[in-house]
Amino acid sequence: MNIIENKQLRPYTTFQVDVTARYFVELTNVSDLHNLITNPLWHTERHFILGGGSNVLFTKDYPGIVVYNNIKGIEVVSDDATSITVRVAAAESWHDVVMWSVEQKLWGIENLALIPGTVGAAPVQNIGAYGVEVASSIHTVDVVDTTNGRAFTLTQSECQFGYRTSVFKTHPHYFVTGVTFVLSKIPQPQLSYDALSTAVESQNREVVTSRDVAEAVMEIRRSKLPEVGEIGMAGSFFKNPIIDRIHAQALTARYPNMRVFDVSPEQVKISAGWLIETLGYKGYREGQVGTYDKHALVLVNHANATGAEVWQFAQKIMDEVQETFGIQLEPEVLVV
Ligand SMILES: Cc1cc2nc3c(=O)[nH]c(=O)nc-3n(C[C@H](O)[C@H](O)[C@H](O)COP(=O)(O)OP(=O)(O)OC[C@H]3O[C@@H](n4cnc5c(N)ncnc54)[C@H](O)[C@@H]3O)c2cc1C
Repeated sequence: MNIIENKQLRPYTTFQVDVTARYFVELTNVSDLHNLITNPLWHTERHFILGGGSNVLFTKDYPGIVVYNNIKGIEVVSDDATSITVRVAAAESWHDVVMWSVEQKLWGIENLALIPGTVGAAPVQNIGAYGVEVASSIHTVDVVDTTNGRAFTLTQSECQFGYRTSVFKTHPHYFVTGVTFVLSKIPQPQLSYDALSTAVESQNREVVTSRDVAEAVMEIRRSKLPEVGEIGMAGSFFKNPIIDRIHAQALTARYPNMRVFDVSPEQVKISAGWLIETLGYKGYREGQVGTYDKHALVLVNHANATGAEVWQFAQKIMDEVQETFGIQLEPEVLVV
């Protein structure tokens, strides 16, 4: 395990902004992590755990230790008539695990195909897409508490999963070393999203497989999202806001084409992309920053924007959304 000083982070984050880490350490196994947290430097410096860097925006040089997770491995723990339980180490690519599961004809995570990043980060914001959240397939999460080196396993309910949140958001000192999933052998297509059910229907299959669903998801995603590396970005920049139903009713009276999605009897979810697009920001550019031309929710670094410039632009959008709709947008991307 090597501690590198003043490491350029541009290649390690999908936003591709130039920032350096004062210290940078790559971990390839759990004992590296234990060695690191007994190093005196660990107790004097701030630290940040980095996976694939697809949900983070560094706005300035990081003054502490960036821990780059590269702990890999995948192991089937049990296999019975109805399901397979599999433990995946944190640095495995999320999309590769989805592809592995559909090759095994398993069900549960196929709607989450093509989400960039690592398995270890998936529970952190409880990744979700097309009506499915990863929480529904997670059995347990293995963690090391980096304040004291204690290794333990959290059950699904101890992870406190919610919409784009979990216990890991409030406990950033928990290093996820592996995640155990239970994947079903019993077909259970989740096609509640209109665009997804239409894409699956257009495949004209007699029997729909989890691979068919994953392929439909990939087709939809490729039609509206950039590929990682094509342009600097981190997917959806903001969460979809959840607001009071009464507030939403007042807005739909003004904007009849605004769609609302039920969350509870009192609350609804609104599309953050729709709010931003309605303000005229789809495909908008201001110097080196802007929004993606096929999806207003994706903020982009056209080439050499600084992280601070991207964040300034994000704040401008947040202010305008607040002024026009009375809604406070919250970043989904972690702004550091
Ligand atoms: C094009 C694109 C599309 C996207 N689409 C979606 C989508 O549909 N749905 C969705 O939910 N997200 C989406 N995202 C966001 C992103 O892919 C996910 O949040 C992903 O889980 C981030 O993984 P990562 O390894 O890149 O994490 P990073 O960006 O490296 O880190 C994200 C957070 O997790 C923490 N973290 C990372 N690894 C660990 C670990 N081992 N232990 C503890 N904490 C850790 C980091 O400290 C940070 O707080 C998209 C991103 C892009 C670029």
